Amino acid sequence: MTQQTKEMNPPTRLMMTPGPSSVDARVYRALAAPIVGHLDPWFKGMMDDVQVLLKQVFQTDNRTTFPLSASGSGGIEASVLNLLEQGEEALICVNGVFSERMAIIAEHTPAKITRVEAPYGQAVNPEDVRSAGKGKKIKMIGLAHGETSTGVLSNIDAYRKVADELGALLVVDTVATLAGAPVNVDKQRIDICFSGTQKAMSAPPGMSPITVGPRAEEAIRNRKTKVQSWYFDLNSAMNYWGKDRLYHHTPPISLIYALHEALRIVVEEGLEARWERHRQNLLAMVAGLEAMGLGMFVKNPAERLPTVTAVMIPEGIDDVKVRNQLLDEFNIEIAGGFGPIKGKIWRVGLMGHVSQKANVLFFLAAFEKVLLENGYRAPAGAGVAAAIKNYTQMETAAAVSR
Ligand SMILES: *Cc1c(COP(=O)(O)O)cnc(C)c1O
Repeated sequence: MTQQTKEMNPPTRLMMTPGPSSVDARVYRALAAPIVGHLDPWFKGMMDDVQVLLKQVFQTDNRTTFPLSASGSGGIEASVLNLLEQGEEALICVNGVFSERMAIIAEHTPAKITRVEAPYGQAVNPEDVRSAGKGKKIKMIGLAHGETSTGVLSNIDAYRKVADELGALLVVDTVATLAGAPVNVDKQRIDICFSGTQKAMSAPPGMSPITVGPRAEEAIRNRKTKVQSWYFDLNSAMNYWGKDRLYHHTPPISLIYALHEALRIVVEEGLEARWERHRQNLLAMVAGLEAMGLGMFVKNPAERLPTVTAVMIPEGIDDVKVRNQLLDEFNIEIAGGFGPIKGKIWRVGLMGHVSQKANVLFFLAAFEKVLLENGYRAPAGAGVAAAIKNYTQMETAAAVSR
């Protein structure tokens, strides 16, 4: 006898994680639209729209701009495998798990990879990248703009400057930052930039938007050897997303619908307004957490990611118990740390649709109760009060400047 299973009924969580983020109701509606063929004339128009919207969000005119059918890690893989060949050298900035993933993937190619490291909680010093590349022929420099595992934001322009001096291409992972923190591919002259749909764009997980600039395109065209991946070979993937629209693989049609709607929401809000919203909610939440006596893992405020905040777990408090109670009692999911900082930090996401005043205030109140019952006593109401004060100040300042 086969066993009957119940109809699935997922809980509605508030996803205050470093991804996936909760999505807007409009995005769910897009997911329910009828499936069409990937070569349907109507669908080709839809693909054009997605590319137009992605160019706006990346702020680029690059013709090679499209969503890879893969999660954010696929974006890393495509960027690195397409650029690197035997006999070449790359420098990868490593300051956490995701930037290290870029190094690990690059080490799958025959190129020589040098990791330029920084302690967790800090950005890699561009000076260290400069000295690592001194006197060498460097093909690419790679970094994570937002290192989600530690909550660190890096200054892209500083690495661009070093890449210019070394004649290297710049590859930037903006999985955690695109549509949540300022990224301007053309102005910042990023040669390959990629992201993930489930973070600050607030679309479902499963796609990795990527954009390839003219210099990187030329480098890929002039390769002497084959790319070590058929699926991620950008030359052939572009035959489908390029003007020919030739079959390469069947893309996730419904995810493309959802991405289309999520990008429309981003563009309707406007990038500047969206970055500012993320910035303000971050500042209010940090003010609240600090008023509760909690420490920030990233000490330099200029290096804090607007989309993910790493909070120090107080002495003697159980990481997992706190997270489980937040989930069971309040339907709020936050994340723990990875590797060497597991049990030392919580990571609280304010990505895309989730970055809202109501969520910040609700979270601070819920967190206070859960921490209290787990043995950490914050001054009563201090987190919410500090965040409210912060919001009021920011709103007053905005009204004055209007
Ligand atoms: C989440 C994330 C990734 C990995 O994305 P997946 O969708 O989990 O494959 C890569 N880089 C950064 C910076 C991320 O935040």
